Amino acid sequence: MELPHISKAFTQAKMRINRVAQECNRPVEKITLIAVSKKQKEDRVDASLAAGHRVFGENRVQEAQKRWSSRRYNYPDLRLHLIGPLQSNKAADAVRLFDVIHTIDRPKIAVAVAREAAQQNKYIQCFIQVNTGDEPQKSGISPYELSSFVDFCRKEIGLLIIGLMCIPPIDEEAAIHFGFLNTLASRNNLTGLSMGMSGDYEEAIRFGATHIRVGSALFGSRG
Ligand SMILES: *Cc1c(COP(=O)(O)O)cnc(C)c1O
Repeated sequence: MELPHISKAFTQAKMRINRVAQECNRPVEKITLIAVSKKQKEDRVDASLAAGHRVFGENRVQEAQKRWSSRRYNYPDLRLHLIGPLQSNKAADAVRLFDVIHTIDRPKIAVAVAREAAQQNKYIQCFIQVNTGDEPQKSGISPYELSSFVDFCRKEIGLLIIGLMCIPPIDEEAAIHFGFLNTLASRNNLTGLSMGMSGDYEEAIRFGATHIRVGSALFGSRG
């Protein structure tokens, strides 16, 4: 995508978000557009910053450090979301750099993030990633174990859980998974729903998404 097109793509996405929110009677302020900048060229990221966008998603801690550590000084109102899998040896760096982690997907990571958050005195917000399709090779908490895991995070280790996140199986109707995640969130008294990507974010909004993660529709194809 050429640079002038990026600001247009952001405007268009925001118009679509507005329209869908209106259609389903939801306040648009409750929907955060996370611009997924992973593997995008630096000039595209700068174009989106110039267009006024401040909320970004990255899937790897080291890449994100390289890109955002210095930019943070120039843009103090940046909000950075980690949307990719986290290893416990990167937990310290992740807690330092990011504002929100979407991929709390197992007890070990929950514990590591909670420990770092306490140590750094940082109220980092977290989503629990749910394996809504119960796919064997996919990361995320099984829907069957979710309630006890939410309890563990809240009561035993004091992690600030704000919602649930899912990545639907590619060969299935995403809407089913969005609806399921919404049900699981209500059951556990959680209001945040991180779901929906370039191809299906409008559908996700209809099912209550509060955080949509959109990459290629804003920046063009990666790499
Ligand atoms: C890459 C990625 C996205 C963005 O995907 P697009 O199809 O480019 O919008 C969203 N969520 C996660 C977890 C991702 O890894």
